[in-house]
Amino acid sequence: MKEQTPEIRCKGLGVSEGVVIGQVLRLVDGASQVSRWSVKAEDLEKETQRFRDAAAAASQRLRKIRDQAGGRLGNEYAYIFDAHVLLLEDEKLLGDIVEYITAERVNAEWAIKVVGDRLTALYSEIKDDYLRGRGSDIEDVMQRLLTALSGARPEDLQLAEDAVIVSRDLLPSALAELDLTHAQALATDSGGWTSHTAILARGIGLPAVVGLRDFYRRTKTGDRIIVDSHRNEVILHPSRETLAGYDKQTGQPSARRKAAHVADRGALRTQDGVEIKLRANIELPAEFDGVEKYGACGIGLYRSEFLLARNGLTVSEQEQRIAYEAVARLAGEAGAIIRLFDLGGENTRSHFREPEKNPALGLRAIRFGLRNDSVMRRQLRAILLAAASGKLKIVLPMVTDVSEVKRVKAMIGEEIAKLMDEGQPYGDVPIGAMIEVPAAVMMAEKIAACVDFFELGTNDLVQYTLAVDRSNDEVADWFRTLHPAVLEGISRSLKAAEQAGIPAIVCGEMASTPAYAVLLIGLGATDLSMTPSAMPRVRSTLAAIDSASARIIVDECLTCEGADEVEYLVRTRLGSRWPHLFPASSLPQPRPTE
Ligand code: PEP
Ligand code: MG
Repeated sequence: MKEQTPEIRCKGLGVSEGVVIGQVLRLVDGASQVSRWSVKAEDLEKETQRFRDAAAAASQRLRKIRDQAGGRLGNEYAYIFDAHVLLLEDEKLLGDIVEYITAERVNAEWAIKVVGDRLTALYSEIKDDYLRGRGSDIEDVMQRLLTALSGARPEDLQLAEDAVIVSRDLLPSALAELDLTHAQALATDSGGWTSHTAILARGIGLPAVVGLRDFYRRTKTGDRIIVDSHRNEVILHPSRETLAGYDKQTGQPSARRKAAHVADRGALRTQDGVEIKLRANIELPAEFDGVEKYGACGIGLYRSEFLLARNGLTVSEQEQRIAYEAVARLAGEAGAIIRLFDLGGENTRSHFREPEKNPALGLRAIRFGLRNDSVMRRQLRAILLAAASGKLKIVLPMVTDVSEVKRVKAMIGEEIAKLMDEGQPYGDVPIGAMIEVPAAVMMAEKIAACVDFFELGTNDLVQYTLAVDRSNDEVADWFRTLHPAVLEGISRSLKAAEQAGIPAIVCGEMASTPAYAVLLIGLGATDLSMTPSAMPRVRSTLAAIDSASARIIVDECLTCEGADEVEYLVRTRLGSRWPHLFPASSLPQPRPTE
């Protein structure tokens, strides 16, 4: 009898709910090192043929993705692959690679790398931002060629019905590209609760455990695997007994397959009558359905950089306008808030330029936009044009002071003047600031005086206040949402908004966790934005609490000396005030050192 491979259990962090039994589908990290080896003269023809075959396979694959992209992710995604198809079929480019193989007598992988590096270097020197952005297309195409040469067959991704994607570090753009209808779950070595891949997984209802550290290298495609987000665990080669235990659970429809639970809609009030708005955070068209399904009050945060997920900065004004109009239509009367591209963070890092040493502190978000004037102006024009037919607002990411807001406002004024000259219809667009770095909190009163609204991004606020990388599992224990310094920052920002008479929306992941949402209400928030699937739980919790009790609990938290103490208070106070809402398992658990 064949011996059963021993079961391996690995602990991580369950970031998107669900339990799934499936088969590993390893995502080959094509970016890994490319080696050089010599090819004998008599084998050169075979080598060039190997390259030609890979190029043909890559372009066939890409055409298929392009055709499917329209259906899965929305039409605005389909065209972005055209440039890549053209490149993959460009005889000059393919010819250069073949020539290098023959002239240098080297393997195809090495030739692709050398020719690709040369081309991207040329592009990086172009002055025009738009054209320079095309360098990312070259990188993408080279990557596809290398993947095709490695023999990996990404087509399988779409065939396996029970595929569990296992990877080291899945970029959100790569996740956006997968056939999400067939993927059943996700397991990655890196990542944290607020990494964009985790946010996206929750958005599309894909069960996920991240931060598994050393799991990827132990897997093979086809291995049996259980992903259990409730236990923060994955199990490789589960034993018969383990499987039998899980079969019962997974026999129930998973959160993902369950028929849509149509949540209550209409006004949400706490027990003491405070009206709370719940808005939607969205990234991809695949999440659009949830906005209506869960009764969101418009779109509180559209992370527009996901429009660029696959093709870098080449999205034209017209293409952007179409996308923003679609978002405005979806949001209806309550309107949508478009965040200007938050580029340069972990969600887009590979596409735009050489990796920075410290991207979170680098040329990110509004800094990127101010440095790349033409990219920002193109986006502003597209939003202004789309606002002619729908209700849109703009929010500026990573603001640190008033001057940044003023510079963008000046640009908007100039773009409006041009549109008027051109006789193009545009709409008025209120401007808000993301409050997500400590400098913005400290300047909150001054920033509030020059914007129409605030959006509190608690994900980055925790990251920057505590100096803890939000997607590094090594420091996940230090990512303490309930740190008193974070609560102070939120409190000060909300007060500044109130005093200035402007609305403040809390749109970080904190808002989507019921216990934390209660604290936000205690801090004075009345407007929360979150991934739509989180709304039913937050809604039913907030409808059952009273804001006065929440305030008393929060005031006590604000006197604490550290995160452990706040977590302890939250456990005891929420658990005793509303035991039916907060069983112990739903509250922050004591750390082993406590
Ligand atoms: C945040 O920082 O909390 C936020 C909402 O933006 P993102 O998660 O996209 O950085
Ligand atoms: Mg942010």
